[in-house]
Amino acid sequence: MNIAVRTDKVASTQLPDPLDHLAHKLFHHMGTDGVYARTALYEDVIERLTALITRHREAGTETMRFPPVMNRAQLEKSGYLKSFPNLLGCVCGLHGTEREINAAVSRFDAGGDWTTSLSPADLVLSPAACYPVYPIAAARGQLPQGGLRFDVAADCFRREPSRHLDRLQSFRMREYVCIGSPDDVADFRERWMVRAQAIARDLGLVFRVDYASDPFFGRVGQMKAVSQKQQSLKFELLVPLRSEEQATACMSFNYHRDHFGLTWDIKDANGAPAHTGCVAFGMDRLAVAMFHTHGTELAKWPASVRELLGM
Ligand code: AMP
Ligand code: ZN
Repeated sequence: MNIAVRTDKVASTQLPDPLDHLAHKLFHHMGTDGVYARTALYEDVIERLTALITRHREAGTETMRFPPVMNRAQLEKSGYLKSFPNLLGCVCGLHGTEREINAAVSRFDAGGDWTTSLSPADLVLSPAACYPVYPIAAARGQLPQGGLRFDVAADCFRREPSRHLDRLQSFRMREYVCIGSPDDVADFRERWMVRAQAIARDLGLVFRVDYASDPFFGRVGQMKAVSQKQQSLKFELLVPLRSEEQATACMSFNYHRDHFGLTWDIKDANGAPAHTGCVAFGMDRLAVAMFHTHGTELAKWPASVRELLGM
């Protein structure tokens, strides 16, 4: 994600947005900004984009699909609370005795607030698709020469309500992940930055790739963001959906250095802390970008794009 595309303040003023005209064709409202039911038209394109990304999967990549929730302790250990505590969604439940639970429900029935009885479960909503893969890889012991590559996906949640159709609270993320030596990860990211731009070009999208930083929380976070940019740890593929300055990040190319290797004690083939990197495809942003670029009548999309997507 790019701080340049954080437009929450603009969103809250409820100005009309260039993507608004797509809403009735792509989504049904579900009562909360950024959480939408998807139409058949929209899902058809999501599935075709998903298949396209699968076709580009490198040989020797292991596929895993994750649920929309993950273990809270694992995400805490990953350092998420140090970086993005404001975005995290935590699963809560009524965990008390029967009496306590009945009391909460009675309060609700009487028009009161039942949620004060909630307590956190051992689950959070996954904020990115790749977090669960590192402990799984760690459990396998030392990495082989060349490292490991994974194809992962999850429904992700980030608490960043917005009326903009390209900033959802619940969205699909697909990722290719590399865990290996610094060279394995650097090569992986290079390859994917080239390949991903070819995919975007083939899809007929206008885009640029630029250095980026994550929206780290707070004042210390701003320093982290500067350092992330200085070290070129994150690039984004940006599509100018509403303007060139506020372009939307539809893919990101991330290098975590040895953060997850140290956190999960993953050793590369040489016995050094593993380095990791991922390329993330924002499936919903890609689909919105396709409809914004080519319109909502699939029959009118460019022939080459239709052919690429098997339409
Ligand atoms: P990030 O980990 O922030 O780089 O996110 C990976 C990808 O997920 C981004 O490149 C976006 O395409 C997508 N993404 C991130 N946040 C959102 C959001 N709020 N709504 C929709 N897609 C998102
Ligand atoms: Zn990732």
